[in-house]
Amino acid sequence: MSGIYEQLGIRTIINAKGASTRVSGGILAPEVADAMRDASRHCVDMWEIQGRASEIIANLTGAEAAIVTSGAAAGLLLGTAACIAGLDPTKMNRLPDTSGMKDQVVMARSHRNFYDHAVRTAGAKLVEVGIADRFSGAGVRDAEAWEIAAAITEKTAAILYLAQPNSRPALGQVVKVAQAAGVPVLVDAASQLPPAENLRRFIDEGADLVTFSGGKAIGGPQSSGILCGRRELVASAALQCLDQDLFFEQWNPPPSLIEKSDIPGLPHHGIGRPCKAGKEEIAGLLTALRLFVADDAQARRQTVRAALARELYDALKETPHTQCALVPDSYRPGIPGVRMTLDETAAGKTALQVILELQNGDPSIHADNSRIADASIGFSSMCLEAGHPAAIAARMSELLK
Ligand SMILES: *Cc1c(COP(=O)(O)O)cnc(C)c1O
Repeated sequence: MSGIYEQLGIRTIINAKGASTRVSGGILAPEVADAMRDASRHCVDMWEIQGRASEIIANLTGAEAAIVTSGAAAGLLLGTAACIAGLDPTKMNRLPDTSGMKDQVVMARSHRNFYDHAVRTAGAKLVEVGIADRFSGAGVRDAEAWEIAAAITEKTAAILYLAQPNSRPALGQVVKVAQAAGVPVLVDAASQLPPAENLRRFIDEGADLVTFSGGKAIGGPQSSGILCGRRELVASAALQCLDQDLFFEQWNPPPSLIEKSDIPGLPHHGIGRPCKAGKEEIAGLLTALRLFVADDAQARRQTVRAALARELYDALKETPHTQCALVPDSYRPGIPGVRMTLDETAAGKTALQVILELQNGDPSIHADNSRIADASIGFSSMCLEAGHPAAIAARMSELLK
């Protein structure tokens, strides 16, 4: 317990789940928290700070331009709105009413996921393609690029691609059919960091827009994200999320995002207004990004995590009715963790029961629940701090004695 949480009368938890939104993300590096506090002391022009963010992120991603959003889901909403409206302020003002506009977003059926709600929020209709036989077990195939090509019509605004290590078809093949049809590809790469090389990968492979979460592995504020890509699309996204309550004469957009002559006048507050990032989030995200790509900061963090995972493994390995292994966190291959497999019969309880007891105990411990079907409980080192391994082990031996 400390400070603000004590004042609010709420408890802190031990986060062995990793930087998930449900458990408030991760712990900010002191440099990131300091940058946010520093940013909070002065006011700035939001176009100017987003313009500077664009230059810095463009440098790290290879994209033409970028903005900081309130998260990757915000990036999906803004990216979709940009693909639908382009730089036409009349269309921007009408969204989510898309009558008379291109408003279909084509995606492989196996890429459907609960974050694509953000795409539909902009007014787009999803067009699902292919059958994921490899997941149903009935066959070996998934959607293929020719099927995506065949689904493109004059109503297609974009192709949505969910980047995951096992995503099919390959992004390069999707980009090929998209470019042939003149349709932009929007990549949801929210959780594809680390490795840091992935900051460039999807742009290199030809994506028109890519969105990343700022509050996951980058280590930025929980409500931050990145939308990067082609300048005209990013400019549209910026116009649909930044505050435009000013006269056109007053507006001084940064050339890194948009030339004033690109549009006839300013749109109203747009469909993306709820996606706004504050100066504190922008400062925090840019600082986290700088640390994320710096080899020494990366190495330091990796050493701390490896030591915490090792300590946790050593403390847990004798727990009765379990088998423990030091393995990567199940969502983030680069981050070490501990996986504990329970002999549910001998223990007299299921993995889900143990996860619930951990969660409902004191201290409240949140573990990775993604593999309960294998009687397995995961502990990620991503957000652990000194003292947590011992506290987790003490609680586990109480629950399984
Ligand atoms: C986490 C995640 C998002 C949402 O990211 P936020 O930054 O929390 O908005 C979107 N898509 C995928 C695949 C994710 O894993």
